[in-house]
Amino acid sequence: MKIICIGRNYVDHAKELGNEVPTEPVIFMKPKSALLQSHTPFYYPEFTNELHYECELVLRICKNGKYIPERLAGSYYNGITVGIDFTARDIQQEAKKNGLPWEKAKAFDNSAAVGKFVDITPAFNPKNVGFSFTKNEETVQKGNSGEMIFSFNKLISNISNYFSLNIGDLIFTGTPAGVGECLVGDQLEAFMDGVSLLKVEVK
Ligand code: ZN
Repeated sequence: MKIICIGRNYVDHAKELGNEVPTEPVIFMKPKSALLQSHTPFYYPEFTNELHYECELVLRICKNGKYIPERLAGSYYNGITVGIDFTARDIQQEAKKNGLPWEKAKAFDNSAAVGKFVDITPAFNPKNVGFSFTKNEETVQKGNSGEMIFSFNKLISNISNYFSLNIGDLIFTGTPAGVGECLVGDQLEAFMDGVSLLKVEVK
């Protein structure tokens, strides 16, 4: 399986990091070794001094496909949850400045925390999935899929033009504004439509 991530999919977040609003999805990937399940501790990596959380909605791919048309993309995922795209922001800023790849900043071990998946039902409305994120029980991020620049279906269609999607692949769909630092001892929790699906302690 692979983990595909989207950068700058919310206008407010693109602005808070001083980036332009994209006209085409910004795509990067994390390897399988980046996966971290809920209730598993996250160990602060020794190579960074500025670890950031980014809370995001995560889709679970359930069908293999390539060149998937947008109108059919809704049938290619069967689960959704919240996740944390852990980012070594200091390493990423340095990489950006020098035009270098982001892997060291974004794809390290356990950098993709994933909550408990909720099955997609016929009642599911992809344009209105609310989510929020707390650090030490204080809400620091809030988002809704309706605010995304590129919808779930647009993302799946666009990604599949470049990479075949396979059963079990995960898509991190981008973070809203409010990203920030986490420190050792922080308790992180992510909610979708008010339900807690992911808990991580930084050790
Ligand atoms: Zn992200």
